[in-house]
Amino acid sequence: MSEPAAITFDAIHTRKKQENLARMMAETAAAVLQIGNDQPRSDHCPICKGRELHHFTDKFGFRLDRCGHCHHLFCNPMPSRAQLHYYYNSPMKAFENEFFIESFENRVPIFSRRIAIIQHYLSAGRLLDVGSAIGIFLTALERSEAPFEVHCCDPSDDACQHLWRHHPQVQLHQAMVEELQLDGQFDGITMWDTLEHVQNPHEVAGAIRRLLRPDGYWFFSTPNTTSFEWTVAGTDHVQILPPGHINLFNLESLRVLLASAGLSLIDYHTPNGSLDVSYVRKLLAAGDAGHRANAGHFIAERIHDDEFAAALARLLVETRQAGNILVIAQRPGEPAHV
Ligand SMILES: [Zn+2]
Repeated sequence: MSEPAAITFDAIHTRKKQENLARMMAETAAAVLQIGNDQPRSDHCPICKGRELHHFTDKFGFRLDRCGHCHHLFCNPMPSRAQLHYYYNSPMKAFENEFFIESFENRVPIFSRRIAIIQHYLSAGRLLDVGSAIGIFLTALERSEAPFEVHCCDPSDDACQHLWRHHPQVQLHQAMVEELQLDGQFDGITMWDTLEHVQNPHEVAGAIRRLLRPDGYWFFSTPNTTSFEWTVAGTDHVQILPPGHINLFNLESLRVLLASAGLSLIDYHTPNGSLDVSYVRKLLAAGDAGHRANAGHFIAERIHDDEFAAALARLLVETRQAGNILVIAQRPGEPAHV
């Protein structure tokens, strides 16, 4: 069997997206800021409640703080409900969906790897996909022929119309996951690159626990801010996208989140080391001295060598230090009656 094509930054983020993203975000964020925000600035971390906060950066008019205890990165204050409603119905979202469609086939392999991981824990049963968007995961799941009964939920009108047209066999719920009343109904819940958008992760993790059957699994992915690519990019990281990305996790803050929801951390992976390496190559080629210092002289000198880059990508996967973390969590089983 031939090696699958490496997943690279340029394949996932089309040129058009890279050229237009910052401008689109700046325009959208300016309109969001016009709406005004009545949310107070918090004096504690939304995940571990720790009170040692450090200013991390300002982006698009939003402030991001980093927790001194669990290192969680978050928007402070959080955007208001009205601001989020505007953002998720703005031309920015249509633009994002357009580039998701453009890079659709390049993204399918990311999901194929995720499906292989799911199948290690679950061979069949009822699966809920949260935040299905345009359904790349559903497509990969159909191609895998895995025998799951699939439900999906997404609050967006556009997403639901798209899902209804392209995936008529799935049971569609136009709702936020917190609103679903299907307690204990799911063997597995998937949530890909959605947790970073969520305003109250504790509320979502609690809803996930409620919807899972005892021993059921939650599979999710989110940016990993203590990874190689985040260490190099720092405050310039392309995923610092408020009011879209408002909670940015690392392994430590994820542990706190799961424990407080009564979920067990079973395992985690960072499967896309090639994405880190291709992104860092781009950053270093642009010549910023800070990024070069963060990468370290030795790495910066060698990362443009293909053999070194491929080995570094494998190392990041093996040591679980790449920029997107995939977590396998589980709702504990009911205690046996004595
Ligand atoms: Zn914290």
